[in-house]
Amino acid sequence: MIYASYEDLLNRVLQETGLQREDVEKRVQEKLDELSGLVSREGALLIVANDLGVKVLQDDYRLVPLDQLKPGMRDVTIQGKVLAVYEPRSFTRNEQEGRVQSLLLGEGSHRVRVSAWHTATDKLASIKPGDIIRIKNAYTRQGLNGSVEVHLNERSSIDVNPEGVEITIEGGVQREAPRKRLADVTKDDGLIDVFGTIVQVFDPYLFPACPECNKKLRETPEGLACDVHGVQEPQQRGILTVYVDDNSAALRAVFFHEQFKRLVPDEQLWQDSGKLKEDLLGSFIRLTARVRYNEAYDRIELIVQDATRDVNVDEELRKLEALEREAKGEQREGSPAGEA
Ligand SMILES: [Zn+2]
Repeated sequence: MIYASYEDLLNRVLQETGLQREDVEKRVQEKLDELSGLVSREGALLIVANDLGVKVLQDDYRLVPLDQLKPGMRDVTIQGKVLAVYEPRSFTRNEQEGRVQSLLLGEGSHRVRVSAWHTATDKLASIKPGDIIRIKNAYTRQGLNGSVEVHLNERSSIDVNPEGVEITIEGGVQREAPRKRLADVTKDDGLIDVFGTIVQVFDPYLFPACPECNKKLRETPEGLACDVHGVQEPQQRGILTVYVDDNSAALRAVFFHEQFKRLVPDEQLWQDSGKLKEDLLGSFIRLTARVRYNEAYDRIELIVQDATRDVNVDEELRKLEALEREAKGEQREGSPAGEA
């Protein structure tokens, strides 16, 4: 049933209109007669409520399972388990500054990308992988490769770990990003999954940032200041660049602050590039990254969205070997090298 019981609905109508019970019931009966039994009593009451301008479904929601989402839906409610939270990113369009952040939501064997735009990105701030979330008032769009994406705007809301909701994930924590050999990465790739060894670590770029908007603070006579938020107590932020090598090629991988912090949580190390290199060089790493083409240097770079050094090396090497055989045009043996 998509709405509450007849009694609950009726009470709501009485409350909101101040009408007498008999008046409303009389209207319901008239509607039933008019529609000659084509609707239920609840259905007739819904119509009457609508005629009276009472939004009885206001607090109820239209929960759509992830596998039933279609492009062009509005005001949908979805729920699922957060499998990944990607790095927020800023962009400029028509001289307006914009912001977008995405996460990957799963339910059963289905995966859906959820993107929040502009101020709605604030709603993702406290969400971590593993959380169960329910998103209300979202809308859907056609995504890449025929997928459906869910978008959030200012009206959308998120309940984190709502009571009584359990979500099971089938097929492991799959990523939507295909596994690639570094040699096969092209500038047309979107999100990819790679595995390799950190072979070079550059000194991190550290800067004082505005605690409100994370932008770099400027020196002013009054102290460090943000163009938008004025003088602020600076917060240290860092950007790390490394080279990752998988024996087919080596690519630059950039860790913006949140990812840098996840890779190297001890910020003391950020200041000491000797120790930082000691910690990172030679580490195996698995990355989910967005591919960016750097025009100035004519090179492909990986913008890290998710990274872990906790990897099953044998398994990753098997996947790499399978991709290598595939690249050489050989038939893959046994089961395909799917995600763990
Ligand atoms: Zn600011």
